[in-house]
Amino acid sequence: MILLYAKNICKRYPTSGGYFYALNKCTLAFPDKGLVAIKGKSGSGKSTLLNLLCGIEKKDEGRILFRGEDVSKRKHPLLGNEASMVFQHYNLIEGESVLYNVSLPLLMRGKGKKKARDLVKHFGLGKLLNHDVRFLSGGEKQRVAICRALATDPALIFADEPTGALDEKSSVIVMEALKDISKKKLVIMVSHNQELIHSYADRVIEIIDGKIVADSGPISERKFQKKDSKYPHRSAWVGRFLLRNLKRNAFKDSMCFLSGVIGFAALLISFGFLVGNMPAMEKEQGNNLCYLEASISKRSQIEIPGSSFTLVKRTRPEKEEAVAALEGIESYELVDDYSFFFPANMTFNVDGKVYEPCSFQPVFDITLFEHGSSMLTQGELPQGRSFDECVVNTEFIDTYGTEILGKTINVSSRSVVSIGDKQQELFVDASLKVTAVVKEFGFLNVPRIYYSYPMLRNHLHEQKILDEFGDETSLAKMVADAKEDSQYSSYSSLIFLHDPKDVPKLYRIIEANTEMEITSLSYGLRESFASLSTAFSSSLVLFVGIALIGLALILGMASYSSLIAGKKENAILTVIGAKRKDVLSIYVFEAIVLCVGSAALAFGLSPLLQWLFNLLLQKEFDVFGLVNIPYESYLGIPFLSEIVLFGFALLLGFLSSFIPMMVNKKMPIVEELRDE
Ligand code: ADP
Ligand code: MG
Repeated sequence: MILLYAKNICKRYPTSGGYFYALNKCTLAFPDKGLVAIKGKSGSGKSTLLNLLCGIEKKDEGRILFRGEDVSKRKHPLLGNEASMVFQHYNLIEGESVLYNVSLPLLMRGKGKKKARDLVKHFGLGKLLNHDVRFLSGGEKQRVAICRALATDPALIFADEPTGALDEKSSVIVMEALKDISKKKLVIMVSHNQELIHSYADRVIEIIDGKIVADSGPISERKFQKKDSKYPHRSAWVGRFLLRNLKRNAFKDSMCFLSGVIGFAALLISFGFLVGNMPAMEKEQGNNLCYLEASISKRSQIEIPGSSFTLVKRTRPEKEEAVAALEGIESYELVDDYSFFFPANMTFNVDGKVYEPCSFQPVFDITLFEHGSSMLTQGELPQGRSFDECVVNTEFIDTYGTEILGKTINVSSRSVVSIGDKQQELFVDASLKVTAVVKEFGFLNVPRIYYSYPMLRNHLHEQKILDEFGDETSLAKMVADAKEDSQYSSYSSLIFLHDPKDVPKLYRIIEANTEMEITSLSYGLRESFASLSTAFSSSLVLFVGIALIGLALILGMASYSSLIAGKKENAILTVIGAKRKDVLSIYVFEAIVLCVGSAALAFGLSPLLQWLFNLLLQKEFDVFGLVNIPYESYLGIPFLSEIVLFGFALLLGFLSSFIPMMVNKKMPIVEELRDE
C-alpha cells in the first residue's frame, strides 16, 4: 500500500540562459511506514524534493498524490494536517515553554495538553516541561520539535537534516526517536550523513543534480492507502500570540496608541465644537444689550412697467402689521423711531478732549433690572431712567480708557429737516455720565455706549424738538403720520425686547419673514459669526480627517511591520497547522486593540479635555461651553456619538491592518523556514 506518490515532479528557476532545474522529473512512491532517507551532495536538490512533497513549495511540473488524492486539490495542505516537518534548525516558538510548543498544534485543533505532556515525557524531556525552549541544548530542541511533529498524530513526518546541527551523541538519540516512529508511520528524511543513513534507513534514495540516481527499495505497487480524516479547527490560541505581539512591540505599539489617543481626542473635541458652538453663542446673546434692539419696516415691491427692474420700497408698517409679524415674542416695546436725531455713531468729548467716533446704542431700560448685577463689572447701574446717565461695555473701557468711568460724555448732533420750502436745523445736545461698565461677550463686539431710549424721547420733547416744526406742525405728529411722499419720514419702528430669551425667536422671525424687514445690528453680527464658525468647523473637520488618514497610515505601518517582524513565527505556525486566517487575525487584532483601546482612552479623557478646551476658548472668546460633546444623544439617536466613535475605531483598526496584509498576501514560507 502506498501513501504518497510523486510523478515526474520538476522545480526550475529561471536563469539568464534558460531554466535551471533544481529537481528534474522525479518519480517516487512511498509506503505508509518506514524510514526513507534521501541523500545527496549539498545543492543536489534534497530539500527541494522534500519541500515539494510536503507542499510548502510549488512544483512546476508533475503530480503528487497523497492517499490517491492530488495534493494541489486538497482542502487542507498536507503539512500541518496529515504531515509534520522536523527542521534542521528546529523552528520552535521562542520564549515559550517546551510544553506549550508541543501543545500548540493540539490547541489549534481544540485538544488539551495531555498528549503533549506524555510525548515530552516519552522523549525523556519530562524535567524540562516548563523550560523556555531558547535555553535548551540542540539535541533537546530537536526532540521538542519531534514531539511537536508527533502531537497531532500525523501519518507522515518529513525531516530535513534533522541532525545537521547536532553533535554525535544527540544525533543518535534523535535518529533512535525517528526510527522508533517509523515503525508505525512514514518518515522521509533528508541527510548527507552516510553513517547515520546506513545504520537507520530502511530505504535510501540518492539524488544528484536534481535527478534520482539510485533507490534501494523502489515500489512498483500502485494501491493507495485510504483513510477519511477530518480536522477540527480552533482559534483560541490566537489570543496568546496577540499578547506576545503586543509585548514584543510594546514601544512601537505605545507610540501608536498615543497617536490614536491624540487623533481620537482631536476628533471628539472638534465634533464637540461643531455641535456646541452655535448653542453656546446663542446662550451668550442674552448677555448683550445691543441684541435687544431691532427695527421693523415693510417691504413692498413695485414693478416698473416695460422694465425688468423692480423697486423695493420700505415703509413703516402699521402698528397691527408689526404686532402680527412679531407674533410669538412675549414682551417687547414697539416705538416710533427717533434715532434720526441721535445717530448711532458720533464723536464725543470728555473734559474738552475729543474722542474718535463711538457706537451709541439705545436700550429701553437702562437700569438693566433684567440683566442686573450679572453684567456689571464696575461702577453702579443707573437708578432711574435718565438721559443724563449711560452705561458702557468693557470694550469701550479697554479702548478709551478707565478714567472715563464716572465722567461725563458730551455729544452734539445736528440735523436738518425740510418740508416743502421750509427748512429747520435741529440740535440735540446731551451730557451722559458714565455710571457703570457692563461685561458682554467680547468676541466680535465693539465699544458701545448704551443710553435710555425713552429718555431720549423725553429729551427731544423737552427741547421742543419733537413738538414744533415752525409754528403750526408738531414734528412728532409729522413723523407719526409721515406720508410716503413726504420728503422726511421714518421708514421703520423700533423694537426693544425685554427678555433676552426672545432673541433667538426674533432671529427666527427675521429669517422667515419676507414681507417685513426686521433689521438688527446684532443679527448681522450673529450671521457673520455663524459663517465664521461654520468655516472654522469645516476646516477643523478637514484637518481632523487628514489627521485620521495619518493615523490610519501609522497604524497600517505598525501592523505591517509587526507582520514582517513575525514572518518566521508565522511560517512556523502555518506549517504546524494554523490557518492563514488565524495567523493574520493576530495582526488584525493588534491593530484593533490599539484603535479601540486608544478611542476608549480618548473617550474617557474627553470630559476633562472638553472642560480644558472650554476654559481655553473662554479666555480667547469670552464664551463658555463652545465645545459640547453630545454624549447622551445626537440627532435624536441615543449614544450616536459613542456608536460612531467606536465603530469608526473598529473600522480603522481593521482596514489599517487588513490592507497591508492583502498587499503582503504571499507569505513566502520556504524562504522564512530555510535554514540559516
Ligand atoms: P540541498 O540538496 O542542499 O538541500 P536544495 O534543494 O536546497 O539543495 O537546492 C537545490 C538547488 O536549487 C541548489 O542548487 C540551489 O542553489 C537551487 N535553489 C534553491 N532555491 C533556489 C531559488 N529560490 N532560486 C534559485 N535557485 C535555487
Ligand atoms: Mg537542504
